[in-house]
Amino acid sequence: MVLNHNSIMSRLKGLLLVLALAAGLLGCPDAAYAFDTALDDQLLVLVNGKNLLAAAYTPSDLVDIAKQVPSQKSTMQLREPAAKAYQQMLAAYSAGHSDKLYAVSGFRDYAYQKQLFSSKVAGRQRSGQSYAAAYQNTLRYTALPGTSEHQTGLAIDLSNNAGLSESFRDTKQGQWLLENCWAHGFILRYDAAKSDVTAIAYEPWHYRYVGLPHSLILRDNDWVLEEYVAYLQDKGSLEYPDPLQPESLYKVYYTTDTTQEYDNIVSISSDNAGGYVITCHVSRLEQILTNWADIARSGDLDIVRPDPVQMQISQLN
Ligand SMILES: [Zn+2]
Repeated sequence: MVLNHNSIMSRLKGLLLVLALAAGLLGCPDAAYAFDTALDDQLLVLVNGKNLLAAAYTPSDLVDIAKQVPSQKSTMQLREPAAKAYQQMLAAYSAGHSDKLYAVSGFRDYAYQKQLFSSKVAGRQRSGQSYAAAYQNTLRYTALPGTSEHQTGLAIDLSNNAGLSESFRDTKQGQWLLENCWAHGFILRYDAAKSDVTAIAYEPWHYRYVGLPHSLILRDNDWVLEEYVAYLQDKGSLEYPDPLQPESLYKVYYTTDTTQEYDNIVSISSDNAGGYVITCHVSRLEQILTNWADIARSGDLDIVRPDPVQMQISQLN
């Protein structure tokens, strides 16, 4: 996936360079190119009570893994990248454990969630609650249509049997996931300590695919997805060392400007909150050379030897 995006981007850049040169010859030398929003993988979409999905939103790359994984359901749909990563995570779990890990719920569309919500409200009304009380009580346990992560096709509910319960956390399966999900691109979406941020009660069974390196960034910063997106919106970018290639690092940018240029893009994701998260993979030395060249050009140097203090870059750490 990384290589694919890299090669697509470098081909795209080659083509755009030719177009830009042609535009220059025609008298508009400042023709800039935007990053390609068609490459938006939507893996970092934020879905909650503030950031709703449209009723018509259905991912185009759903696959059914009900036959490939332990599950008592006849269909278990996930978006393709999440399905692939889930099967790899399951293989890693199964290599050391005989207790089965069951998939209980994957993609659910808007209409299903709407029907689920209204049937729960009706049930409570039948047992004597007013509509207002029935609605409030249902809201505690069931997401309103448009606010359910299951509509993204990136969320999966997991269990040691067929049901969902808080005690899942203390099972072998639950403990293994808490420790290992991050390395496979998944996050525990509704942490017990973060329910004031997510507005959702603790759900030890609900895992969400965001992809690498984002799952590791969330783990290392003890963030839920709301906090990660808020940090990027506030600071504009962050850096994360590539655990597999010590000479390289990830630069993760946030922008609402689609004309912005980036080098070495590995993925682009809209965030469902008006912006894009651009993930780049860069060599530390290349980064240092670029930064140093910028400082040298600015003419602010009082020394001639590249100085880490002047550069103020974390790549040296
Ligand atoms: Zn769930």
